[in-house]
Parts: sequence; C-alpha cells; structure tokens
Amino acid sequence: MRAVITGGAGFLGSHLCDKLIAEGWDVLCLDNLITGTESNIAHLMSHPRFRAARQDVTRYIDVPGPVDYVLHFASPASPVDYLKLPIQTLKVGALGTHNSLGLALAKKAKYFLASTSECYGDPQISPQPETYWGHVNPIGPRGVYDEAKRFAEAMTMAYHRAHGVNTHIVRIFNTYGPRMRLNDGRALPNFVYQALRGDAITVYGDGKQTRSFCYVSDLIDGIYKLMLSDEHEPTNIGNPQEITILEFARRVRDLLGAKTEIIFNPLPVDDPKQRCPDISKAKRLLQWEPKVSLDEGLRLTLDFFKKQYAAESARAK
Ligand code: UDP
Repeated sequence: MRAVITGGAGFLGSHLCDKLIAEGWDVLCLDNLITGTESNIAHLMSHPRFRAARQDVTRYIDVPGPVDYVLHFASPASPVDYLKLPIQTLKVGALGTHNSLGLALAKKAKYFLASTSECYGDPQISPQPETYWGHVNPIGPRGVYDEAKRFAEAMTMAYHRAHGVNTHIVRIFNTYGPRMRLNDGRALPNFVYQALRGDAITVYGDGKQTRSFCYVSDLIDGIYKLMLSDEHEPTNIGNPQEITILEFARRVRDLLGAKTEIIFNPLPVDDPKQRCPDISKAKRLLQWEPKVSLDEGLRLTLDFFKKQYAAESARAK
C-alpha cells in the first residue's frame, strides 16, 4: 500500500510518516518546507519504503505510479505562523485541498483531510461535539486558517458526494510532542523557550482561557484508526482533559524547575475562550481514547525541547 502525505515534514505529518512506515506502507512525503523541516524526516531518508519530494501542493501535484491513500496534512498550524503566512494558509487549505483531492480521484485512492478544532472558532458550547457548526469570525486574523479548513471540509464532502471518493476528515485539537518547533509561537514552545532562557513566561489575557492538550502518539493512533474506518463525516480527535492556560504555564515552569515569573500580555484577537473536544464519537466508532497523561507527555516533550535548546545554544557559540 502506498500513501502520499502532504506536509509530511511537519510536526504531525512526520509522526504520521513514522506510523505508516511502521505499519508497512510505502510513503511519499510532499512538503514545501515553509513550516516543516528536513530534520523531522532525516531518520527516514534511507528507509527503502520512504521517499520525500519538495512540492508546493497549491500547484498541480504530479505523482507517477499507483497511490492507495492521499493524506492532506500540509498547512501552517500555529496562530503565529498563519498570521505571518495568511495567503499561503488560505491557498493550502483551498487549492491544496482541491489538488490533493484531484490526485486521490485520479488514482482511485482513499483521502484523509487534517482539519481542526478551529472550525468551531470561539465556541459557545463546551465540550464541542462534531454536530456543532461553530462560531467563527471570517474576516478576523484567525479567519485565514479557520475558513480555509472549513472550505477544505466542504470540498472534501463534495468530492465524496459528487465523485464517490472515499474520504475521511479528522478535527484535530491542540496537540503537543517532540518535533514541535521551539519558535513556532504556540503556548507550549513559548513557555519552554522562555523558561529555559530565564525570561518571563508570557500568558496572554488573564490566562483563564482553556485548552485541552493531546500527546502526539495518542493523536496519531486515533488518526490511523479513523483512516481505516468507513466514516466520512468529521471526527474529533483530542484529549478532553481541559486546563487553563495560566495553570498550564505553571505546570510547565514547575516541570522545568524554573523560577521565572509569569507576566500577562494582551489576548490576541478572537482567541478562543474555551476549547475541549467531545470525543464520544471517536470512542464509540474507533474504540479510541487518549492514554498519555499531561505530566507524562510533558516530560517526554520537555526532554526533546531541552535537547533542541542545547543544540541551538551550541550553534550560537
Ligand atoms: N498563549 C499564551 N502565551 C503564549 C502563547 C499562547 O498565553 O506565549 C495562549 C493563547 O493566547 C491561547 C493559548 O495559549 O489562548 C493556546 O495558544 P496556541 O498558540 O498554543 O494555540 P491555539 O490553541 O490558540 O490555536
């Protein structure tokens, strides 16, 4: 079985490459490396069933030979990244989804879309079930990501209904783990970077907003099960253990044994106040639920970040 993974050199894409290689698949990774990095897939480069090509999937995607599965994971995903790359984010969600669906149709392959909890925007109900239509500001700064992903879901369902493509959609909630970029601007890498440098930890707003953090191995297990299922409508995958951002900052600081102060900076526009997945559908349909606790996942991730930081400091000398 051969899979094409767009965004395969990114944080989640590269973990998915690992999973499919481990499960015996042939994998072709496509990435334009604007937010992904070669180091995420360096360990796979000599594997006989792995290939990587530099490709911007907003342009026509030409893949010679048979393909059994197309998985579309390409997109900036950190708010800081997509605010810096608004047009690219809209294009990869719209044109990239269209092109990758076209590839799946031409190859008679199955299709998997990486969508997001951002489809729910700043939700007015919590936890968020898949049946909730969301509360999104289309013209706000986050709209470039939220609306691109909502369009991507609509396009995927249209290919399913109009062309009969066997499609799958996951709505991914906040995920963390090794291979996140230290400088990607998200809460966890920011807090770690700040604590390691001895800088103040920046909590935005009053820190009472919540998130629910899923360790990457749990997420990838859920995605693999969804890939192999017959479900076409969106399915939430995430960890329902909810925590305020202030509590999260304290937890990270304590685990690092850092003494730095926590300061409060302005809340970004349209920052969701509450986010927590309702995972009853995934539990019922896939017999999946997360297994890794926040403390355990954080320990594994902090080890990775510490090594990254040491390597970065050594390079700077
Ligand atoms: N956040 C924060 N300090 C930071 C970075 C982020 O308080 O240095 C907050 C951010 O405002 C949001 C939450 O942490 O409420 C999660 O932000 P992140 O960028 O990780 O992703 P999001 O869940 O908003 O997509």
